[in-house]
Amino acid sequence: MAKRNQTSDDETLPKFKFTKASLKKASRILVYFAPYKWKFFLGLIFLFLTSVTAIVFPKLLGNLIDAGDISDERIKQVGIYLLLLFAGQAIFSFFRVVLFVDVTEKFLAGLRQRTYSHLIQMPMSFFSARRVGELNSRLSADLAQMQDTFTTNIAEFLRQFILIIGGIALLFYTSVKLAMIMLAVVPVVAVVAVVFGRYIRKYSKNVQDKTAESNNIVQETFQGISNVKAFANEWFEISRYTIATEDIRKLAVKGGILRGAFFSFIIFCLFGAIIFLIYSAVKMEHNHEITHGTLIQFMMYTIFVGASIGGIAEQYAQIQRALGATERIMDILDETKENIVLDKHSKSISLRGEVSFNDVSFTYPSRADVQVLNGVTFSAKSGETVAIVGPSGAGKSTIIQLLLRFYDPQLGNVFIDGKNANDYDITELRNSIAIVPQDVLLFGGSIRENIAYGKPNATEQEIIEAADKANASEFINRFPEGYNTIVGDRGIKLSGGQRQRIAIARAVLKQPAILLLDEATSSLDSESERLVQEALEKLMVGRTSFVVAHRLSTIKNADKIVVLDKGTVVETGTHAQLSEINNGLYKQLSSLQFEVG
Ligand code: ATP
Repeated sequence: MAKRNQTSDDETLPKFKFTKASLKKASRILVYFAPYKWKFFLGLIFLFLTSVTAIVFPKLLGNLIDAGDISDERIKQVGIYLLLLFAGQAIFSFFRVVLFVDVTEKFLAGLRQRTYSHLIQMPMSFFSARRVGELNSRLSADLAQMQDTFTTNIAEFLRQFILIIGGIALLFYTSVKLAMIMLAVVPVVAVVAVVFGRYIRKYSKNVQDKTAESNNIVQETFQGISNVKAFANEWFEISRYTIATEDIRKLAVKGGILRGAFFSFIIFCLFGAIIFLIYSAVKMEHNHEITHGTLIQFMMYTIFVGASIGGIAEQYAQIQRALGATERIMDILDETKENIVLDKHSKSISLRGEVSFNDVSFTYPSRADVQVLNGVTFSAKSGETVAIVGPSGAGKSTIIQLLLRFYDPQLGNVFIDGKNANDYDITELRNSIAIVPQDVLLFGGSIRENIAYGKPNATEQEIIEAADKANASEFINRFPEGYNTIVGDRGIKLSGGQRQRIAIARAVLKQPAILLLDEATSSLDSESERLVQEALEKLMVGRTSFVVAHRLSTIKNADKIVVLDKGTVVETGTHAQLSEINNGLYKQLSSLQFEVG
């Protein structure tokens, strides 16, 4: 089922074009295939042998039938040949399959790991320009396509190719007259059948798409069931779903009629053609132009050739799809990744935490026309707390992203301890900065593992201490399974305040010189709020902290407030200083209690 969907996904993608550049790009994948080439070559030899044995089979079968007219000796002899032939074919097939699967699985596991590792090291600009689903299907559907092709389609294509050529040659050898009749009829019918078959497939793809659409309705409504119920809109959703499923029914019924017509066509034309041939052959046998064995031989070769002509088109289409998939994988591997050190023990650097933005201007690469930051200048001394405030969309989160070097400014510089942020090793710099975001992502796993995300080699003691400092141990210990409690999709759901405290514990473990906080806009209940606030205050001691602030209490306590408006710093100072500025933006915002923005 999953496989069907993958194929249908693939059919919506642009087809592979056999241009020189495309072929060159796709063929570069062979670099990853190189270590296995000899095994693959050996597999090809076995493939060749299985095909040859398949071609010899009808010939021997014909001989066996004719042997009845010669002698017992001859029957035995041909029988033994046939037995040997089957034994050989059985052995060759086994090795062919085992070798192809072995080569493909090794090659694909390597390619999967390489692609994932490449993807995860891509810069943020790459991710902001793409949908997660798209990247996901590169790793699943595209690689599955290649898997099918390398294990089966290439082999089948070559096998059928050999069968067609060998079969036709032997047909001519058997009877030139019959071969000519066969070549005039069977390929034409087979090709028409393939084209008709494709049309039907396209049709069933439409049905699949419509089914996926209706599944979306189910998913959406159940995910947001509280909204549906609150609006008493059950009737609306039912009618939406009914329309969608009726569409499927209409399409599917039409598809059924087409399929019925297809089967009638196949029965009438293809079998008709074969029967016509057999009719001609039987007539020839009757006139003693050919023997009975030759007749059987001929029939079998005809079926072989017909089936292979039908099959080879499908194999070709699959290989073409796999080439498209290969090209898309190469596109990913060609992208420039960030310069990241992949080491569990990668170092952090000891920073004092002096930060300054010097005339920084920035636009997101995906939206080059919108100037997000415009000549932003401010600085923070070691250990200071800087609150960044401003209306929604002013560029507050963008400043945090530039500090993490998710993006580089187009103009101006960010300095950290007097050195340009661009001159730091990106891994070392990020290891020295911790962020407590608004939306904390917890991974499926235990609470212990989630806290240890801040320092993968942390000891049990360190994890417990970090949880203590983050005011998290109290709620963790209340779970029957304590630190082993599973969270995430399949586990327990933590409240917003609890998730934030896990994030704080991660940051505590990291012991960063620079701390980035994105205060939650939605307020927590007052007890949770107090616990989070208290933990944060402890965490901020001795570190330079940048807080995208929404709460007046945080802002009042900050050493410096940077007020942003439309990407420009409009005011800088302490709460007392900024409150003095009549008609100032800060004054306006604080009169609204920073409830918005
Ligand atoms: P809020 O308080 O609502 O979170 P903010 O002050 O943090 O807002 P930013 O998130 O920094 O604002 O966004 C500033 C501008 O940059 C907005 O116009 C936003 O649409 C745009 N922007 C933010 N992230 C991206 C992105 N990844 N790609 C393109 N544009 C973006």
